[in-house]
Amino acid sequence: MRDYDGTEFGDVEDAAAFAAAPDAFQRLWTPYRIAYIKANSEQEPASDDCPFCAAPAMEDEQSLIVHRGVHAYVLLNLFPYNSGHLLVCPYRHVATYDEATPEEVAEIGSLTQVAMRVLTETAQCHGFNIGMNQGRIAGAGVAEHLHQHIVPRWALDSNFVPIIAGTKAVPRLLGEVREELANAWPTP
Ligand SMILES: [Zn+2]
Repeated sequence: MRDYDGTEFGDVEDAAAFAAAPDAFQRLWTPYRIAYIKANSEQEPASDDCPFCAAPAMEDEQSLIVHRGVHAYVLLNLFPYNSGHLLVCPYRHVATYDEATPEEVAEIGSLTQVAMRVLTETAQCHGFNIGMNQGRIAGAGVAEHLHQHIVPRWALDSNFVPIIAGTKAVPRLLGEVREELANAWPTP
């Protein structure tokens, strides 16, 4: 089945083809406008192989950064569990929470609060999953660079696809969501 412009419905991309650390899911990009994602996946991998060290050196549109703080920054997850799935990372390449400085801990906390408010305002979500996977054994995709997940949740956001096909439907494109969140982020 094809869209009016000839693109095929239901393209499924293997997460292993993306630039950052893959996870177990394939993703069905439901808007069928995958050119943006393909453009991102064709970037050169970072020389040190750490996507969270490489991101701040790129333009916000390219790295999906929503907000840059003093010690930490906020970006959209390239492998989202849901639309608006954000990550808060310290700029410093540290692996675990106990290695973060008090300043980094404080800013990761305050950026998480602002992210919740911005997501509530822009996406009208009903709840959040917030947390850090510490170490690969605990599920961290990029275990060597600390990052806090902020996953917005809606009452009816679960669907059968992850259960039967290992595929998550992500209804909005990352570039579109990044722009909306960056515009809604309060200026200090
Ligand atoms: Zn790093």
